[in-house]
Amino acid sequence: MSIISNNLPTAELQALDAAHHMHPFTTNDELKERGARVITQAKGVYLQDSEGNQILDAMAGLWCVNVGYGRQELIDAATRQMQELPFYNTFFNTTHTPAIALAAELAKLAPEGLNHVFFAGSGSEANDTNLRMVRTYWAEKGQPQKSHVISRKNAYHGSSMGSGSMGGMSYMHAQGGMPIPGIHHIGQPDWWAEGGDHTPEAFGLTRAQELEAKILELGAENVAAFIAEPVQGAGGVIVPPSTYWPEIQRICDKYDVLIIADEVICGFGRTGNWFGSTTMGIKPHIMTIAKGLSSGYAPIGGSIVCDEIAEVINAVEFNHGYTYSGHPVCAAVALANLRVLQDDNVLDHVRNVAAPALKDALEKLADHPVVGGLNLCGMMASLPLTPQKENRAKFAMDQGTAGFMCRERCFANNLVMRHVGDRMIISPPLVITAEEIDIFHTRAKAALDDTYKALKEGDMLKAAT
Ligand SMILES: *Cc1c(COP(=O)(O)O)cnc(C)c1O
Repeated sequence: MSIISNNLPTAELQALDAAHHMHPFTTNDELKERGARVITQAKGVYLQDSEGNQILDAMAGLWCVNVGYGRQELIDAATRQMQELPFYNTFFNTTHTPAIALAAELAKLAPEGLNHVFFAGSGSEANDTNLRMVRTYWAEKGQPQKSHVISRKNAYHGSSMGSGSMGGMSYMHAQGGMPIPGIHHIGQPDWWAEGGDHTPEAFGLTRAQELEAKILELGAENVAAFIAEPVQGAGGVIVPPSTYWPEIQRICDKYDVLIIADEVICGFGRTGNWFGSTTMGIKPHIMTIAKGLSSGYAPIGGSIVCDEIAEVINAVEFNHGYTYSGHPVCAAVALANLRVLQDDNVLDHVRNVAAPALKDALEKLADHPVVGGLNLCGMMASLPLTPQKENRAKFAMDQGTAGFMCRERCFANNLVMRHVGDRMIISPPLVITAEEIDIFHTRAKAALDDTYKALKEGDMLKAAT
C-alpha cells in the first residue's frame, strides 16, 4: 500500500483528492480546478493547512468543536475505551458503561421531564429516529393518522431522506425525490431578509401564526409534530424575534402537537445555556443532539425524549436503531467532552467573557459599509452583506456571489468564516479567549475591507430591485 501523508506536496494531495474523493455539498469538478485546502492539524482555535498557514477557525469546524482542538481529556477517553471495549452493540439485550453513563448524564443536563436517550451516529440519523418515533407514539395512542410533521423553509435537519425532507432547503429537495410525503413547510422568522417594513415583533408573530394556519389546514388530528431549531443555524443564523417562540409554544399546546427542538447546533453551550430551548423558553418533547455533544471528536448524535413519549415507546418493540447507536468509543468521548464543559465552567466563560467580547467585535463589524446588520445569539452569529446598508437590500447579482468572495478573502486573511448565501457565519469554539476574539475582529475587518474594495472595483454594489 502506498503511503499518503502530510509529507506529500500539497498539489499531489489535491490531485489524489480530486481523483478519488467525492466531497459533500460540493461541485467536485469546480473544486478540482481550485484544489481543496488540505488541513493537517489543529490546536485550540487554530487550524494549520499544508502550506503552514495558521487559520483562526471561527466556525468551530462545522459548528461543533465547542471545547477547541487538541483536548487531551477527549483523546485519553477514546484511547482508554478503544483498549477496553472498542465496539459492542446495544440491540440484543446488551449494554455497556459508556452508553449507560452518557444517557444518565444527558438526562441530568436536559430540561425537566426529558430523561430518556435514543442514540444515533449523527444529527441526520437522530432526526430520522424522531420522525419514526413521533409517528409511532401517536399510532400506539390509537391515532395513526396523526402523522404529518410541520417544519420551516430554510431549516436544516440533516441530509438523509427523512431529515432532509424535514429540512427546508429547496436546493436539496430538488434532487433525489425529497421531500417524502407527510412533511410540510411554513415560513421562517427571518426578519432581516423577509420582514420588510414590519417590526421584528410583529413579523415574528405573523410567522408563528403560519403554524396555526397550517395545523388548521391539515386538521390538528393529523399533525404529529412541529420540528425546529431554536435558532436556525445552516439557514444563516436566523435569530427569531422575541414574540416567535412563545406563540409557537401556545399553538403547539393548544392543538396537541409535539415539539421537536433540533439542538444539534444550539445544544451544549452555543447559546449560553446547555440547550437553546432554555434560551428561547421552549418546552420540547424531544431534543435532537449531535455536533457539540462530542465537540466533533467522534461521530455521535441522539434524541433526548420526554417521559410521556418514552412511556409509550418503551411499551412496544420500536423497530429502529443503528449499528453505532451508543457506540462505546463515541459515547466515552462525549462523556469526556461534557466533563470538560463542566469542569472548566465553559458556560460561565461563554456568558461572562466570550459572548460579550464577540458581541462587541461583531457590533463594530456591523458598522462596516458592506454589512447590513447583525444576527446574534450567544456564540452563533451572522453578518448579512448588502450593497445598500440603509434598507437591507439584496445584491442585484446572483445570491451568494458576494458571500463567496468574502469567504475567499477570509481565508486569505487566515480566518474561516463560512458563507450562507450572502451572510457570513460565525460560530467559534466556545473556549475562545477575549484576545483571540480581538484577532478574529482584525482579520474579519481586513476580509470585509478587501471584499468591499473588490465589489466596488467590479461595479458589483448594485441592489436588486
Ligand atoms: C448539522 C445539523 C444536523 C445534521 O447533523 P449531521 O451530524 O450532519 O447528520 C441536524 N440538525 C441541525 C440543526 C444541524 O445543524
